Amino acid sequence: MRNNEMAVSYVRALARGRVHAGYGWAAVCSDGELLCETCVRSNYRLVLRATLKPCAASYEWQIVGLTNSGESETSAHCAHCHKIIWETA
Ligand SMILES: [Zn+2]
Repeated sequence: MRNNEMAVSYVRALARGRVHAGYGWAAVCSDGELLCETCVRSNYRLVLRATLKPCAASYEWQIVGLTNSGESETSAHCAHCHKIIWETA
């Protein structure tokens, strides 16, 4: 599987809630910023297109992976809506 297709499968999993419950989840953008599940869902087409065919105009919507609160030692906020996705325990 190409990297882009892998990333799209991450986006789909997140948007459908098919991720491990009990953690806070976020999509990791190509610029290292995080997007919350809500923003991924509400901008789903934009995110999918930017992830499949990366281009400068939609750079900030390109997803490169997922991360969760179990992998992070710092709190995380969404780069789009600025809500706190998870806070450090
Ligand atoms: Zn958000």
